[in-house]
Amino acid sequence: MRVQSSGAELAVFETGAPDRPTVILVHGYPDTHAVWDEVVALLADRFHVVTYDTRGMGASTAPAGSDAYALPALAADLRAVAQAVRPEGPVHAVGHDWGAFEVWEALTGADDAPPPPPPRPDRPDRPPAPRPDRPDHPPAPRIASFTAIAGPRIDDRGRWLARRLRPRPAALAEIAAQARCSWYVAAIRLPVLPELFARRVVARSWPGVLRRLERVEPRPGHPAPTLADDLVAGFALYRTNLRRRPPAAAGAAVPTSVPVQLIVPTKDRYLSTGFYRDCDGWATTLWRRDIRAGHWVQRSHPAPVARAIAELVDHVEGAPEAPSLRRARRRHNLGGNPRTGPKHELAGRLAVVTGAGSGIGRATALAFARAGAEVVCADIDPAAAAATAAAGEGSVALAPIAVDVSDAAAMERLAAAVQADHGVPDIVVNNAGIGMSGPFLDTTIADWERIIDVNLWGVIHGARLFAAMMVQGGQEGHIINLASAAAYSPSRMLSAYSTTKAAVLVLSECMRAELGDHGIRVSAICPGFVNTNITRTTHFVGVNATTEDELQRQAARAYARRGYPPERVAQAIIKVIARDRALVPVTPEARVLLAMSRVTPGALRRLARVAQ
Ligand code: NAD
Repeated sequence: MRVQSSGAELAVFETGAPDRPTVILVHGYPDTHAVWDEVVALLADRFHVVTYDTRGMGASTAPAGSDAYALPALAADLRAVAQAVRPEGPVHAVGHDWGAFEVWEALTGADDAPPPPPPRPDRPDRPPAPRPDRPDHPPAPRIASFTAIAGPRIDDRGRWLARRLRPRPAALAEIAAQARCSWYVAAIRLPVLPELFARRVVARSWPGVLRRLERVEPRPGHPAPTLADDLVAGFALYRTNLRRRPPAAAGAAVPTSVPVQLIVPTKDRYLSTGFYRDCDGWATTLWRRDIRAGHWVQRSHPAPVARAIAELVDHVEGAPEAPSLRRARRRHNLGGNPRTGPKHELAGRLAVVTGAGSGIGRATALAFARAGAEVVCADIDPAAAAATAAAGEGSVALAPIAVDVSDAAAMERLAAAVQADHGVPDIVVNNAGIGMSGPFLDTTIADWERIIDVNLWGVIHGARLFAAMMVQGGQEGHIINLASAAAYSPSRMLSAYSTTKAAVLVLSECMRAELGDHGIRVSAICPGFVNTNITRTTHFVGVNATTEDELQRQAARAYARRGYPPERVAQAIIKVIARDRALVPVTPEARVLLAMSRVTPGALRRLARVAQ
C-alpha cells in the first residue's frame, strides 16, 4: 500500500488479519521496514502488523529539504499510516531509535499535523471524520500503547542535562558516557564530508559493523539495498531536529497518558543507559525492560522483544497484566532496575528455588518472597513445595511445582513451565540435594548413581536450562548453587557426598568464568552444619535399616545441638546477590575449614582420617 503524507509517499506493508489489534512498527536510522522482519514473523499470527519505510528511506519517497524531516512531519506520517490501515479504533505503536522519537513526538509534540490524508483507496466509503475542534483536521488515530525500543524521550534531554550540570562525579560520568555515544551526531552536522564518507565508507562497511560490533548477522533486507541513499537522506533527521529544537530546560516533563513500555538495550553504543535514569516523568504508566543487547535488539533478540510487545498490547486490549510485564512495572516503580538500581533489590524479580520444600530451600524461598520477589518453589515433594508456597502468602506470589531435579525431561518441563507462566527468572537457586555417609568400599554403584544424579546432575540441569534461557532472553541474572564445606574438607565417611559437592563447587567456578560474558553471575554456597531435615534423610551406606535409623537420629541430635538455623543461610544467599561473591562459606566452621584448606591442607588431611 502507498500512503500520502505531507509531500511524501510512504511504502506501507501489512501482515496478519486486519480484524486483530493493529501494531505499527516504526523503524530507526539507517534502517527500513525490513529491520522488523523477525519480530513481524513472531507477531503476525496474533496481530495485524504494519510496517512502513519512513520518509526518505527504502521504497518511500524522499521529499527535498531538511525541513521535510522535522519530527512533527514524521509524527504526521505515523498518523497518516494509522489512519490508512485502521480508520477506526486504536493502534499500538512500536518505535526503534528515530522511529521511537517519532512516536514520542506523536504522543507529546505540538499538534501541527498536516492536512488530512485522502480516504483509503480500498475503503472510499470511510473518509476520515473531521475533528470538532479542528474541522480541517482528521482525528489523530488513537495510539493505545507505545513500546519504545532504544528510544528515550529526546525532548527531555535538556532536563536530563540540566539535572546533571552539578559537580557530582556520578552525573558527570553519565554525561561523559552519553557524549561517547553521541560523537557521530556532531560529525553529521559537518558540510559535504558526511555524505562522501557515508557513501564511500559506511555503506560498504555496514554489514561488517553489524556483524562484529552489534552481533547482528546481515540478511536480505537488513542492511537494505538502499542503504547508501538512506544514510544520506537520514542526515536531515539529525541536522533538523537536533539543531532546531532547543532542548527543554529545567522543570517537569509533561507525562503522556498513553501506557509506555521502554525496552532498553544495555549494551547500546549510541544511547547510554544513563539517559533513562529520569524516565519516571515520561509517562503516567511506565514499564521498563532491560535486555543485554546492542542497539539493534529487535534483530539480535527478536523473541523477547516480540513477547514484550505482545504482553503490553494484550494488557492494554483488556487481558490481565502478564507476570513479566507486572514485574517490569514493579521493578521500575521501585527503582530496582538491574542496571541503575541497587543490586540487591529483590522486589520485582523472579526467583526459582529447587528443594524449596524444606530447610535451606524453604527458608530462602520465604526470605525472597518477604523481600518482594516472585518465587517458584520446586521440590520432589509436592506437598512440601505447596506448604512453602502457602507459608509465603501475604507477601508475594509463590508458585509450587513438583519436580525431581535428577530427571532431565522433568527439569525441561519445569523450565518451559516457568518461562510460559512467569517469564525468564532473574535468580536460580540450585539447592535440592541429599546426604550420604559411610565408607567408600560400602558405597554401591546405585548409591553413587543416586547421589550424583541429584546433587550434581540436578545442579547441571537447573543451571543449563535457566542460563540458556537468560542468555536467549538477553537477561542478566544470578545462579546460586548449594555446594558444601565438604567440597573442600575431605572426610573418610563422606566420599560420595564430598565428591558431588566438590564437583558443584568447581562447576560453579567454571560457569562463573564463562557466563560472566552474558551478565550472569554464579556463586557457590558452602553452608557448614545447618539444622535441617537433611540429617533425617541422609543415607548411611553399609548398615542395616535399624542402624541407619539410629545414625540418622544421632546426626539429627548433633545438628540440633549445633543449632545453626537455615534462615541464616538464606540471609547469606540474599547477601551474595548484592555482593556477588564466587564462594561463600556460611557458618564459622565452614569458614575455618576453608582457611585450613588453603593454609594448612596437611592438617585437614589428618583430620579426614579421624572416624566420626
Ligand atoms: P533438606 O533435606 O532440609 O531439604 C532438601 C529439600 O530438597 C527437600 O525438601 C527435599 O524434598 C528436596 N529434594 C531432595 N531430592 C530432590 C530431588 N531429587 N528433586 C527435587 N527436590 C529434592 O536439606 P537442606 O539441609 O536444606 O539442604 C539443602 C542443600 O544444602 C542441599 O544441597 C545440601 O546438600 C546442602 N547443604 C546442607 C547442609 C546442612 O548442614 N544442612 C550443609 C551443606 C550443604
